[in-house]
Amino acid sequence: MNFDGEKVKEEAVALLSRYIQAETTNPPGREMAGARVLQQVLEKEGLATTLLESQPERANLICTMKGRDSLSPLILLHHIDVVPAEADKWDHPPYSGAVVDGEIWGRGAQDCKSLGIIELMAFLLLKREGFQPRRDIVYMATADEETGGKWGVHWLFENHPGLMKADYVINEGGGVGMVVGQRNVYTCQTAEKGVCWLKLTFKGKPGHASVPHGDNCVVKMAKAIERIAAYRSPLRRNLTTELFIKGIAEEQPFPRSWFVRQLLNPFLSQRVEKRIPDPGFRGMAGAILRNTFVPTVVQGGQKTNVIPSECSCQVDCRILPGVTPEMVKKEVERLLFDLRSYEIEILQTSPASVSPSDNPLYGALDKVLKERDPKAKMIPTMLTGATDSRFFRDKGVVAYGFQPMMPMANLAEYLSRVHGHNERISAEDLLFGTRVLYQVVKEVCG
Ligand SMILES: [Zn+2]
Repeated sequence: MNFDGEKVKEEAVALLSRYIQAETTNPPGREMAGARVLQQVLEKEGLATTLLESQPERANLICTMKGRDSLSPLILLHHIDVVPAEADKWDHPPYSGAVVDGEIWGRGAQDCKSLGIIELMAFLLLKREGFQPRRDIVYMATADEETGGKWGVHWLFENHPGLMKADYVINEGGGVGMVVGQRNVYTCQTAEKGVCWLKLTFKGKPGHASVPHGDNCVVKMAKAIERIAAYRSPLRRNLTTELFIKGIAEEQPFPRSWFVRQLLNPFLSQRVEKRIPDPGFRGMAGAILRNTFVPTVVQGGQKTNVIPSECSCQVDCRILPGVTPEMVKKEVERLLFDLRSYEIEILQTSPASVSPSDNPLYGALDKVLKERDPKAKMIPTMLTGATDSRFFRDKGVVAYGFQPMMPMANLAEYLSRVHGHNERISAEDLLFGTRVLYQVVKEVCG
């Protein structure tokens, strides 16, 4: 293997810094600025690229390294757009790409321009050494992930389905290492929860607010909101979460190993969950064990002295595999059984998405991690949110969230900077990620 770590690191740092400086905040998007940076780098290496505009300035970039067999491709996917940043709250400006004490700062440093750069580095290193892949390797940078993918992966599936055929996709949303007991546990994101956004409309008797009465819709809604917020949906076991919980439990000393495993026990699950000391892990564990319901948008009356006849609240409900919108509706109806005169409307819904883990790609990720880190152990994980992987899984493509990151002591702190302030990544993590992905691609396409 011809892999000069110091040189790779230096190149990756410079590329990420430049990529962050190309501002691609969504909304409005303008991914073209970022796509041009990637395109220049690829074309300088003699690689042909395809730039597809879904809207003016909304760009998707694709570059293919041809394989010698007719196997379906491996896609190295990431999104070019980033979420807005409150510049005055950052220690280094969010579009500076500043390199400070071995870290690269800026919006997108974690989510997910760094993934775009380690995938690019792996791709370039293979090209430079004349690697002849068995299957096509496709480098794909897309628009609009942060607002749902309409002008990115979804648009590509609608307008260029031929370019989206693949066996495997590597994308954002997993791969991070955690120190658990004596092992370094890395996640491979094989599943994502689904969405079922609800609007509850409450009806009551209108009237002058100078005379209270017992059929005020605002008061009914307040009761409903309080009940929904306090509600814990029953445990719903699923394979991904079971493997995740058992994988963590195995690395704990007794009796903690027993305690963690009881998260999967329908009779003890909620009690155990409440006693998890780390609030970040508690929230995450709860959300992958059950459907969640969070009231968000509230619309009530118009005027202080008028009791309205109608008011509404929206509930962000996230659902586990196998759960349908009808099941969600029934669950809410059971919870609010005694509150009369309300209607439930489903605003938006998409099912949970899952990829199986019994295939050569999963095996390759596991193998390469163990080669790089003798203490490595990989476990599947479920994301509580959603990424572009769901569009691929919908079509039967195996998609994993896997951006390899060295084990970290404070994962919660790292995750808090995603979409937060002072987003940054270390040069060492760029190198580690590049090393692992480079080897993974060789395993899967060699
Ligand atoms: Zn992202």
